[in-house]
Amino acid sequence: MREGDVSSVATKQMAGKGARFVERVYRLRVVGLGLGFFCVASVLVQQERGFVLWALLVFQGFLWPHVARRTALACNVPYRGERVNLMIDAVSGGFWVAAMRFNVLPCVLILTMLSMDNIAAGGLGFFARGILAHLAGLAAGLLILGFAFEPMSRMPTILACLPFLVVYPIALGWSTYRTSRKLAEQAHALDRLSRTDGLTGLLNRRSWEGVLAGEFERSRARRYASSLLLVDLDHFKRVNDTHGHPAGDVVLQTFATTLRAHFRECDQIGRYGGEEFGVVLPGATLTEARARAEQLVATVRELALRADAGCPCTISVGVAQCDLVMRDHIAWLQKADASLYDAKLGGRDRVVVAEVMTVDAD
Ligand code: GH3
Ligand code: MG
Ligand code: MG
Repeated sequence: MREGDVSSVATKQMAGKGARFVERVYRLRVVGLGLGFFCVASVLVQQERGFVLWALLVFQGFLWPHVARRTALACNVPYRGERVNLMIDAVSGGFWVAAMRFNVLPCVLILTMLSMDNIAAGGLGFFARGILAHLAGLAAGLLILGFAFEPMSRMPTILACLPFLVVYPIALGWSTYRTSRKLAEQAHALDRLSRTDGLTGLLNRRSWEGVLAGEFERSRARRYASSLLLVDLDHFKRVNDTHGHPAGDVVLQTFATTLRAHFRECDQIGRYGGEEFGVVLPGATLTEARARAEQLVATVRELALRADAGCPCTISVGVAQCDLVMRDHIAWLQKADASLYDAKLGGRDRVVVAEVMTVDAD
């Protein structure tokens, strides 16, 4: 992938992320500003304020959420547009403090909820910028409307503030929970992807070797037998040379399906190299592993003879059981690899089993 492609993919991902962020803030803004309307309205009624403030309040409470969503989504990176909108919210919060003449309950409530939004959206830095924006809005409000101080909140205002006080934190909590759940799911999916081979869907080499190392430790510690198969397609290069690389890929996928169908749920299958696969058989003795391998070789041989079966190759298999002489799982792997090598030397389409040096269950 060229550098330009990478940056365009990154921009698209950023845009996607921004769009989801915009939608999330939009839903919260509809709830927050809709309920905040009643807090401010109760004060405007009490103070018998004029038409302009009412018009501004109706716009802010019921129209601004939609305008904010549209403008943010129209930006190249909606995430940035939405952050600007949040700052506009913060400025207007400061303005309404001046407009309500510092009526204490709605003023504290609105500033607290806005600060909660800012800290949830952008952390402490964004929260601090929000405070500055509140101050700017307050200053603008005082300049335009003049200073007046009527801090007492009467009962209608207290009642009008209650729905906002109760509902909004719950809405924000729910939204935060959903976001964190989505993030956890994405992390899980990424983890799965990082362990999987892209072509066959089997474990990739790194994670399969991890499984092998774990099984080596367990079988040694608990003293039970475990076996390992290394499986290699015979003359696979000819498939590529004759039918092309994409056809070779399909053969590898078909073979991976055959492997999955052949082994038990608890057996761990991985793509060890290009056309080489590894299978860990936990709890299997050498005799059991050999039988499994012989069956597999026979099945694949039969399939190779059928033109429609999708896998024209036979296979060679090296089998080794974990034993007490081995220092680590690499030694186990090397032993299976040596058997595979012998199977190739012996003419392919066969199983070779490595001798067990020391039996575990003594
Ligand atoms: P042998 O019986 O000795 O194993 O012969 P071979 O032809 O199977 O083995 P060799 O190592 O000579 O060739 C393996 C080939 O596998 C060469 C390589 O291009 C091909 N290969 C490796 N990975 C892939 C892949 O992901 N897709 C395809 N189509 N081919 C691959
Ligand atoms: Mg091969
Ligand atoms: Mg090979």
